[in-house]
Formats: sequence, structure tokens, C-alpha cells
Amino acid sequence: MKRFIFLVALLNVLIISTNAQNKTKNQLEADFEKFKREREQDFQNFKQKREAELKKMEQEYLDYYNEMTELKKHYVEKKEPEKAQTVQDIIDYENTIAKTLGYKIPERVKEKVEANTKSEVSKKEEVKTEAENVNVEDKKPEVSSSTFKPEAGTRDGIPVLTPLPKRLAKITSPFGVRIHPTLGRPIKHNGVDFGSGRGAEVYAASSGKVVLAQYNSTYGNYIIIEHNDGTSSVYAHLDKIKVSKGSPIRKGDVIGYTGSTGRSTGPHLHYEVRIKGIPVDPKGYLVETK
Ligand SMILES: [Zn+2]
Repeated sequence: MKRFIFLVALLNVLIISTNAQNKTKNQLEADFEKFKREREQDFQNFKQKREAELKKMEQEYLDYYNEMTELKKHYVEKKEPEKAQTVQDIIDYENTIAKTLGYKIPERVKEKVEANTKSEVSKKEEVKTEAENVNVEDKKPEVSSSTFKPEAGTRDGIPVLTPLPKRLAKITSPFGVRIHPTLGRPIKHNGVDFGSGRGAEVYAASSGKVVLAQYNSTYGNYIIIEHNDGTSSVYAHLDKIKVSKGSPIRKGDVIGYTGSTGRSTGPHLHYEVRIKGIPVDPKGYLVETK
């Protein structure tokens, strides 16, 4: 009899512990499912935020493109052929990049411009005359810099390498609106400038393929490398180009040397990062140095 009671007790203990184990297992599975759902939601939120931000960057880029078109007209009307040519070269540069990267610049609906008797440019001129002594900073149009950041762990192909030796990679002109060095008016800067001096080695910010290596009268000798995930990097005002269109590139390869070709006030590197052809602030991409 004693033996029987002992067996029943043992059986009970076994049943209870199996139940407890099942409960823990079920709980763990539920927790894991919940964690997965939350992660998926986080990822979707992140994706949406990125897409919204890229849309905003695209709008700012299209505004810039439109402004260049207006500015060209303005300089032609004012009989300033040199400035008109500078702006035309900028437009050509944008058109070439868009075509190369497969980005379609949509035909702008010019309702806003047509509705006004004065063009955007002449209104800006007025502001200038009225407030000649006002600090330039106060007249800056609202162009925010992008907060795009390469994702950790997925750096393969994304342009994360600073394109110059660390000691020469000081940003002298950031992304966003600044006074254009040769046109002397506030215009959006689609990249960053590094005051590198002449002859510095320029590194490919990531692996990819050279899709353009040529000359533009404003940007001088420039190179575009297309990377994975629709990103690309642009290097301008180069003294010498060491690669040619179609060359496969590895991260860190020397692709050229800094200079002052095109319309430039001194030797420097103009560097751009684009997502699907749209310029974003390269600052967040300068993750690694060589
Ligand atoms: Zn620049």
C-alpha cells in the first residue's frame, strides 16, 4: 500500500512538472511571436519614415531643379551670359546624372509660377534689395538636411567610406542652402565639399560600378559610382580621373585625385550621395575612414 501511495505521488509530481514545462514553453512561444510582430511593426515604421523622408528630399531636389530653370531665364533676361551658362551647365549635370541613374525628372506643373505676375527669381531679387544688410542666414530658404543613415549590419554596397584620407576629410561646405561660390546667391548644395587641397587620393565610398566619368564645365571632371540598393556616389572637380565608365570598383579603390577643374574657387572635393538619383546629406554616410 505504501508503495502504491508513493507511485501515485510520483505520478502527480511528474504531471505537474510536465504541465509547468508546457506552460513555460507556450509562454515562450507567445513571447517570441509577440517579439516578432513588434519587430515587424518597427521595421514597417522605419520603412515608412524613410520613404516619407526620401519623398521630402525629392521635393526639395525638384524645387532646386525648377529654381535652376527659372534662374537660367532670369540671367538670360538680365543679359548675364556667363551666369546663364553656369546655370545651364548645372542643369546639364543634373540631366546627365538623372539619365545615367534612371531617375525621371517630372515635368513641373508651373501653376504657381504662372499664377504670379513675378517669377520666383524676381521676388528674391526684391528681397535682396529691400534687405541688403540682413544677415544671409536670415534669408536662407528652408531646406532641411536629410537624416538618412546607413543601417548597421547591412553596409555591403552602401557608400560608407569617407572618400578621402581622414586628415583631409574636413567638410568646408555642408549639404543644404548656402551662398553659391560663383553665382553669389543662396542655392541648395546637393553634396558636401571637403577642403582637401590638390592631389589628394579620392577613394570609392563602396564597391560598385563606374557609370559615368566625364567633364562638366561647372563640376569639372566627375565620376559617378552606382552601388547596391539604388545608392550612388558622385565625386567632382577632380584633377585626374583614374577609372573609366564601366569599370568595376571595390570599396577604397583610388578612383582619382582632387583638383579644381570646372568652375571652382580652389582645390576641393565635391561629394554627393544619391538614393535612386535623389541627393541626400552625405554627412550621415561618412561612417568609415581609410
Ligand atoms: Zn560642392
